[in-house]
Amino acid sequence: MNEETLPPFEQAFGALRQFTRARRSASRPLEQCELCSAGLAQDHPHLVELTSRQILCACDACAMLFDGMEKSKYKRVSRRAQHLIDFEMTDGQWESLLIPINMAFFFRSSIEGRVIALYPSPAGAVESLLPLEAWNEIAEGNRPLSRLLPDVEALLVNRVGHAHGLAQAEYYIAPIDECYKLVGLIRTNWRGLSGGAAVWTEIGRFFLELRSKADPVGGEANA
Ligand SMILES: [Zn+2]
Ligand SMILES: [Zn+2]
Repeated sequence: MNEETLPPFEQAFGALRQFTRARRSASRPLEQCELCSAGLAQDHPHLVELTSRQILCACDACAMLFDGMEKSKYKRVSRRAQHLIDFEMTDGQWESLLIPINMAFFFRSSIEGRVIALYPSPAGAVESLLPLEAWNEIAEGNRPLSRLLPDVEALLVNRVGHAHGLAQAEYYIAPIDECYKLVGLIRTNWRGLSGGAAVWTEIGRFFLELRSKADPVGGEANA
């Protein structure tokens, strides 16, 4: 077998390794404001750059500049997290969203004027084609989704335990930086084909922490 006839899997794996390497060397240290280079506390605000969807670490002063500002390049990511305890989604509705794994997040992009579906993978966040009718049906049945802030908040879905009959599906309105944090920890801890034990420990810890800081919201799924 010569190099041109590598099976598709080998090619994909090579691309994936390249991607993680490129990402690592391009990543900057997190302790500086990415706008003004001021030193940052560990618990600092984030901004989202709307066209690239890039998350930027910011100092309080820079973050405040973009607080609620209309028509700007950046938006400040809010800290609100809500656990949607009586969210309603049938297995059929989930399947109709065409997400290949049991975890994903959905947010409205103000630039693109549509809802975007992303799911974590060993290579980072992957965008999935979102059939709008399927999304609209779920949004109509779940009133909290009408309050999702564009660009900075997402519906975060975790159906991993549910798919294995171990736990209930979990639904959150989560800050978008938290969603990318989940993507990042999956990318950096994934080993081999199935991810390995470490990545599942990290995923479990992530959702435990999110649950502990989220406000439970319920009683209005169909209101
Ligand atoms: Zn700054
Ligand atoms: Zn940061």
